Amino acid sequence: MSACYSCNQILNKKTGSFEHIIPNSIGGVLKSARLICKTCNSAYGMTIDAALAKNFEDLVAFINIERHRSRPVKDTNASNWGRYQLENGNDLFLRSVAKIAVNYYLMKIRGSHHLDKIIRIINGLEAIEDHIYYHPLTEVIWNDKEVSHVIMIKGTASSGRLYAHVILFNTHSLVINLCNNYNGDDIDLFYRYDVLRQEEVKNRMDYEPYRQLN
Ligand SMILES: [Zn+2]
Repeated sequence: MSACYSCNQILNKKTGSFEHIIPNSIGGVLKSARLICKTCNSAYGMTIDAALAKNFEDLVAFINIERHRSRPVKDTNASNWGRYQLENGNDLFLRSVAKIAVNYYLMKIRGSHHLDKIIRIINGLEAIEDHIYYHPLTEVIWNDKEVSHVIMIKGTASSGRLYAHVILFNTHSLVINLCNNYNGDDIDLFYRYDVLRQEEVKNRMDYEPYRQLN
């Protein structure tokens, strides 16, 4: 039986909830009932996920991802999107992005003991320090018809590192240091979801920014 990774409450019909891996407010569709309880889901929704939704609301409206699925994005040059600056790259927003990485990891891999610290950071119990930070993209990797959210998670016992790279809307790129003393199995996870076509893209990218981080 699963327990909420945030508060450890056992998840059952009464306490459980469907958690979107990437918030639905920015077009995420993947969800799992094995992650967090109803109470934590609601609390995140009102705090950190609300901050993430607020930061992207102009961009979401611009792309019209939910209302007009087949309508092409007006400005297809992703490099112009820099003007959609985040209103406040604040802690709440960063914690919500870290939760995306934790959600995806725990959907794929059982056991959250490597994630204790980052979950405490997501819950505001520890300072972010250098655990979540912006990582500007140095290459344009996309064709002009795709607007994707990407989650990459890599862990190796030899490096002792477990980290995630989350890219939202092709452009907003963040690295999350999930664990500094990783000693589990080698992990290499990849998820890419095109919010325009509303479909998963199976191809990995030629350019994987996290390679630069080793
Ligand atoms: Zn909970």
